[in-house]
Amino acid sequence: MTRGTLPHPRNLTHRQYTGWACVWCGTSLMDVKARPAGRAVGSIGAVVMDVDVYECAAGGCAELRAENEQTGTN
Ligand SMILES: [Zn+2]
Repeated sequence: MTRGTLPHPRNLTHRQYTGWACVWCGTSLMDVKARPAGRAVGSIGAVVMDVDVYECAAGGCAELRAENEQTGTN
């Protein structure tokens, strides 16, 4: 299974941008294991917004994403 392209940093929430929440599902990473998801790259005007982002470790995020797709939310 391949991941989609990481979102543009401007589309991340503050918590996602700072690494406190999963970049895909927004779950707080204070409560679940996290792993690096890669680097979201982009700029706003002349300001480079590149940032390392994180995702739920295996078992959490994928299931949540599947549920979201089934219910049609996000
Ligand atoms: Zn997640």
